[in-house]
Amino acid sequence: MSDRFHKRLWQQATSFSGAQNVHSSLRVIRGMRECKTCGLFQKVPLVKPGFVVKCERCSSTLIRRRKTSVIGAPAAFCVASAAIYVSLLMNSLMVLNVYGRENTVSLFSGPLELGVQGYGEIEFLVALTTIIMPGIVIALMGTILYGASRPIMPDWTPRLLSWYHRLRGWSMVEVYVLGVLVAYTKLVDLALVILQPGIYLLGALMLTMAAVDSTFDEDMIWRRRPLQHEANDHQGNVLDVECLSASEDRLPPVKNMISCGSCHLVMGFDHSVPQEMDIGDCPRCNQIVRRRKPNSIRNATCFLLAGFFFYIPANILPVMTYTRVGTGMPSTIISGVIELWKANMIPLSLLVLFASITVPVLKILSLATMILSIKIKSRWNLPFLGKLYRMVEVIGRWSLIDVFMISILCAVVHFGFIANITADPGMVCFAFVVILTIFAAEAFDPREIWDVVGLNDTWQSQSIKNEDVKSLEEGKALSSVPSQSQYGA
Ligand SMILES: [Zn+2]
Ligand SMILES: [Zn+2]
Repeated sequence: MSDRFHKRLWQQATSFSGAQNVHSSLRVIRGMRECKTCGLFQKVPLVKPGFVVKCERCSSTLIRRRKTSVIGAPAAFCVASAAIYVSLLMNSLMVLNVYGRENTVSLFSGPLELGVQGYGEIEFLVALTTIIMPGIVIALMGTILYGASRPIMPDWTPRLLSWYHRLRGWSMVEVYVLGVLVAYTKLVDLALVILQPGIYLLGALMLTMAAVDSTFDEDMIWRRRPLQHEANDHQGNVLDVECLSASEDRLPPVKNMISCGSCHLVMGFDHSVPQEMDIGDCPRCNQIVRRRKPNSIRNATCFLLAGFFFYIPANILPVMTYTRVGTGMPSTIISGVIELWKANMIPLSLLVLFASITVPVLKILSLATMILSIKIKSRWNLPFLGKLYRMVEVIGRWSLIDVFMISILCAVVHFGFIANITADPGMVCFAFVVILTIFAAEAFDPREIWDVVGLNDTWQSQSIKNEDVKSLEEGKALSSVPSQSQYGA
C-alpha cells in the first residue's frame, strides 16, 4: 500500500471527525456489500459458481459468480477478440456497385468521410467508439488477466481494472453491428451490395467481446488481491487495517461504513463518513473512495438540460441528404423511420424508432423523475426508480445506431452526380443528445433517492427463503445462496 494512502486517509479521518487525537483505524468488513443502485449495505452469503446474489430491496445484481474458469475462459475469448480485431482493421466491410462503379467501405471509411464533410466531432466520436475503444478495451482485458494470473498481482492490475469499467461502455461494437445492418438494408434497395470478410469479422468480434464479459468474474479477480494489514501514516504512526467478518457483533454503524466504487470492498471507520468527500484510497485497489458521486444532482441536471436543449433540433433538422441524379431530399430521423416502414422493413423501422426516438425521451424523462424524486424527498415507487436507472444505463448507448448508420451510408454512397449521401447538422445535435444523456446517467448517483428519505441508515442480512434452500439442494440457480459460515467479499 502506498504511503500516499495512509497520509491522505489520516488527514481526512482527523479533519472530518472533528477530533484531533482520534485513532484512525480502518476495518475491512468481509461478507458485506453495498448495493450500488439503492445504497443498502447487506450481509451476503458465500456465492457458488453459477449463482447470483441480488439486492434485497431493489433487485439489482450484487454478485454474479461465473461457472467458467477465472482466467482461462476470458483469456481465450480475449485472445480471439484481439485476433479478430486486428483482422477486422485490415479487411473491408462491404462493396457497393452502382452502374459498374464500385465503392469499398471499411471500419475507417465512415469516420474519415464525416471528417471530410466537416463533421470532425462526429468523426472523432465514431472512430472512438468503433475503432479506438474496442482496441483499448481488449488490450486492457488481456493485460488485466495476465496481471491476475501472476502469483502476486502487480499494483497496476487493479488500476487497469478500474479503467476497464470506465471505458467498456464506450466500446460500441454491438451497436455498430446494428448500424451496419440498418445501413445494409437501405443499400440493397439502392444498388448491388457485395459483403466482404470484414462484416463477418465484425459479427464475430461482437460475440467474442460479449463472451469475455460473460465469463469474466471480477469478484474472483479481486479475491486474488491481498490487503495490506499495516503501514505508516504521515506522522509515522502505524495505521492498522483490520479485517472483520460481517457475522461479528462489533460491526460499525452504517453511517461509518463506505464501499469502494471500484472493487466493492466495504470499510468501516470509528466516525461517520461524509457523503461526497474524498476519504482516501482503497486498501485493495488504490482507487479514491467516496461515499457518493460528488455533486451528483447538479452535474446530472446540467447534462440533462444540455441534452434536452439539443433534442428538439435533433428531431427537426435533417440528419442526412440522399441525392440521386442531381436531385434529392434531406431526411430527418422520423422520416427515415417512415421510409423503412413504407419499404416493408417493419421490424427495422421499429428498432430505429425505439433507439432514436423512444430511448432518448425515456432517458430524459426517467432521469428528470429521479432528480425530482430527490428534490421533493419522495418515497414513490423507489424500487421502480432503481430499475429505471439500470435500464437507462444499459440502453443509452443504443441510440447511436442512427449515427453509425449515417457514417456508413456517407462513406459508401459516394458516386458524385449519380448517387450521393451527405450528413446534415441534425446528426450532430442527435449525437450530442445521446452523449450528454449518457454523461447525465453517469453523473447521477441513484443511491441518493433512498438517502434523502432516510432509508440507508441500517444494514440488512440477505434473507434465507425456504424455497431457496430447497432449490440449492436440487442444484438450481438461486437469487441468493445462503451460508452461515463463509462469506463472499
Ligand atoms: Zn439495491
Ligand atoms: Zn477498492
